[in-house]
Amino acid sequence: MKKLTVAIDGPAGAGKSTVAKRLAKELGYTYMDTGAMYRAFAWKVKESAIDLENEATLMAALRETRIELLEEPGGLKVMLDGVDVTTQIRAPEMSQSASKVSALRPVRERMVELQRAMGARGGVVAEGRDIGTVVFPRAEVKIFLTASSEERAQRRFDELRGQGKEVTLEETLEEMNERDRRDEQRTLAPLRKADDAIAIDSTRHSVDEVMAIVRREIEKKMFISN
Ligand code: C5P
Repeated sequence: MKKLTVAIDGPAGAGKSTVAKRLAKELGYTYMDTGAMYRAFAWKVKESAIDLENEATLMAALRETRIELLEEPGGLKVMLDGVDVTTQIRAPEMSQSASKVSALRPVRERMVELQRAMGARGGVVAEGRDIGTVVFPRAEVKIFLTASSEERAQRRFDELRGQGKEVTLEETLEEMNERDRRDEQRTLAPLRKADDAIAIDSTRHSVDEVMAIVRREIEKKMFISN
């Protein structure tokens, strides 16, 4: 059976990861968390004090950076230059840092190159901001998942609290709105729905309902391409 490429884009906290992970598991596909890659590079920028103003330094750092996404029974393990950074990249401040470095052209070019190499053979569920528009514009299935900002902030807040982080709901909402604004307004690969993507509002649908909609789309494409 043909292996499809499934692109899931949308703003922070819309439920992309939950849906993408479940789907990849069901289909036996590779789960690609592209946000984790931007987060990993942002972590390196911070730890190695890489000067983002100096393009030559930035390009050299990007060239020698190795990012691996390893699927393990406990979840996705993110390796940066051979070191496990899974926990560190989820710190709340890393969300903003990732959003800032991801607006830079050399960073995007390198990450997109790595992502395309990882998904070259299909059989991938990739989630991010520009998967359906830039990374895999020919993906057979494109989903644009949204939810109201209150709902998304509440989810993110619950998740952070669950990890023992000291944050308030107001801070979480503010942080998320600022990040979405930056992601939507940047010149390069801004967050937007691809014309051929199916928009699903997860405020009005449970995860099971969203999964059912996505499954139907996948079945249609499998039927057409077989
Ligand atoms: O998805 P996640 O919240 O982990 O992404 C962190 C940041 O990385 C986003 O706010 C966005 O700025 C950036 N990103 C991106 N393109 C992607 C995935 C993430 O610019 N495909």
